[in-house]
Amino acid sequence: MTQPQPLIFDIKRYSINDGPGIRLTIFFKGCPLSCRWCHNPESLSMRTQKLYTRSKCIGCGECVKACQNQACLLGKGGIVTDAERCQVCGACAEACPSLATEMSGRSYSVAELMGIIEKEIPFFDQSGGGVTFSGGEPLMHTPFLLELLNACGEQQIHRAVDTSGYGKTTDLVAIAEQADLFLFDLKLMDAERHREFTGVDNSLILDNLKALATTGVQIEIRVPLIAGLNDDRQNLEQMATFVAQLPGPRPTLSFLPFHNIAENKYPKLGQIYDVSEMAVPGTERLQQAVDICADHGLIASVGG
Ligand code: SF4
Ligand code: SF4
Repeated sequence: MTQPQPLIFDIKRYSINDGPGIRLTIFFKGCPLSCRWCHNPESLSMRTQKLYTRSKCIGCGECVKACQNQACLLGKGGIVTDAERCQVCGACAEACPSLATEMSGRSYSVAELMGIIEKEIPFFDQSGGGVTFSGGEPLMHTPFLLELLNACGEQQIHRAVDTSGYGKTTDLVAIAEQADLFLFDLKLMDAERHREFTGVDNSLILDNLKALATTGVQIEIRVPLIAGLNDDRQNLEQMATFVAQLPGPRPTLSFLPFHNIAENKYPKLGQIYDVSEMAVPGTERLQQAVDICADHGLIASVGG
């Protein structure tokens, strides 16, 4: 049965941080979390969104002319979109000569995506790479994802799934049967702080990680390490203790140091990027995180 097509907001070639070898990473739109530091704010919504970059705008007014709904207005500060009137049709983006206006989110069929994936097979074969399904949250599109994973599996393409772990346990276990590797995010062990900074409780995520570990699938735990948020000894000790006690093969851990490359993305969506409580962790803290894991018999590293 053909599954409903989710929206994809990016397809990244030659990725080297999303699993082994050279990878093609496919980013789904839609996420049940809203992490304050999110590097992909365009991934949160399931819907197509209009992005506007003021610095690229040459003030030509082509977008205003193209809009049939009088939703696109040119003022002194650049383009303003009337959200009530905007139908997110994309005509303004098509008309824009400078890519100041773009649309984020496009649907693809499984066949279309497989066409794109198959072109990368020579790179996968040479490098031991494959395809990584990321987001957003791929678990929000499980039936479609399963079709894709199955199609990749038929061609012996290595398949990784990058997840927040926040989804139905039955979906996660079904996906584990079709995936070769999970990149599983762990952020904060304290439930209240997890809710405060991501919008959701972490109990489902921790339960799902246990369930996933039981399947025996290869898991790499990914920890976005953020000074002032989760780089304290208590959080890291709790995390290492939890991971060391998981059933099945021992996951590895990767600490991904916080960076603020997303700060330019938020204004494009008309949003504010508030990371005032967060900072890049120092090398000592990164080393401490790796050492704490080693004390628990875990293999950890810095970077993806
Ligand atoms: S997306 Fe369509 S409706 Fe919205 S501002 Fe652009 S042209 Fe107008
Ligand atoms: S078409 Fe593009 S460059 Fe021209 S006014 Fe609109 S956003 Fe600016």
